[in-house]
Amino acid sequence: MSPVSPRADLESLPKYVPGRTIQGAIKLASNEVPGGPLPSVAQAIAEAAQGINRYPDITSSGLVERLARELHEPTERIAIGCGSVSLCQQMIQALCGPGDEVVFPWRSFEAYPIVTQVANAVSVKVPLTDGHGLALDAMLAAITPKTRLVFVCNPNNPTGTVVRRAELERFLDAVPAGVLVVLDEAYKEFVTDTEVPDGVELARGRDNVAVLRTFSKAYGLAGLRVGYAVAPEPIAIALKQVYVAFSVNMIAQAAAIASLDAADELLERCKEIVSERTRVRDALLAKGYEVPETQANFVWLPLGERTTAFAEHALERKLIVRPFAGEGARVTIGTPEENDLFLEAAGDFPR
Ligand code: PMP
Repeated sequence: MSPVSPRADLESLPKYVPGRTIQGAIKLASNEVPGGPLPSVAQAIAEAAQGINRYPDITSSGLVERLARELHEPTERIAIGCGSVSLCQQMIQALCGPGDEVVFPWRSFEAYPIVTQVANAVSVKVPLTDGHGLALDAMLAAITPKTRLVFVCNPNNPTGTVVRRAELERFLDAVPAGVLVVLDEAYKEFVTDTEVPDGVELARGRDNVAVLRTFSKAYGLAGLRVGYAVAPEPIAIALKQVYVAFSVNMIAQAAAIASLDAADELLERCKEIVSERTRVRDALLAKGYEVPETQANFVWLPLGERTTAFAEHALERKLIVRPFAGEGARVTIGTPEENDLFLEAAGDFPR
């Protein structure tokens, strides 16, 4: 035993379980998009790589300016992070002291409780509705004088369900002053329901709403780790204060800018995923599965106690899905061929 031991409570923290990668198997476990980089993005990456003997721009200023133009937002409201998971952590570090409470739906993005508890803040998990959606009234009721922050994951990972405009506006109006609502829009680009609001537009003019977005999903840069927050200026300043210097590297910055330049083409690719999402869900419903309506690039199968068996059954067919034991399996929409293989596997799962 080493005489130096880590914090006693670390052992009890929930662990982040990444989607597995197995040689020769098809990964439908991490909500990535199936396509590799566009030539223009690959070129930007190669060019940026020429400069890696130097530190990157610490403020990602080129990317911030590009986003500001894109979003019609002042640069002062934008902060960059190593993926939106890092921005979730920065949010907690920026807002919460020990014992402060963070309210979020559960089940939702598995990093929320981890980043909360690592910061010695307290997770307040609010169960989803019977329809696998966010229970906003219950989330409101869970807010106490100790609450500093509320995550609203829209669409929700792993269920794919959404909160619509009227409901969300009512919620934002009712949240007490001093509590920041963080709209996590990691899957925004896959949303087709026109009643789902654009978080950045919604946040405009409200001093207690921030939005998190990522280049990992629709923009296809999961391996490069870059995301952004649009937040009230004092919050954006605080996010930069807790940012680990230089952590968003210059290749990620350049690739993100090139991806914004190629947004039309990348978002076109999302349309295929969206139409495959409908096809996959309809086929699963026809096979008798319960599948909540999804607005993300994945489907949720609330299989309860059959979840682990389902994931093992898929793996026998070289398909990696993401099981949440006892609850359900989340399956990322892949290429049409991958989806066919998945539907075949789902079809012969003994139930
Ligand atoms: N938020 C949600 C809801 C997610 O599902 C994910 C990725 N699984 C993230 C944030 C983080 O993504 P990234 O760090 O790659 O930007």
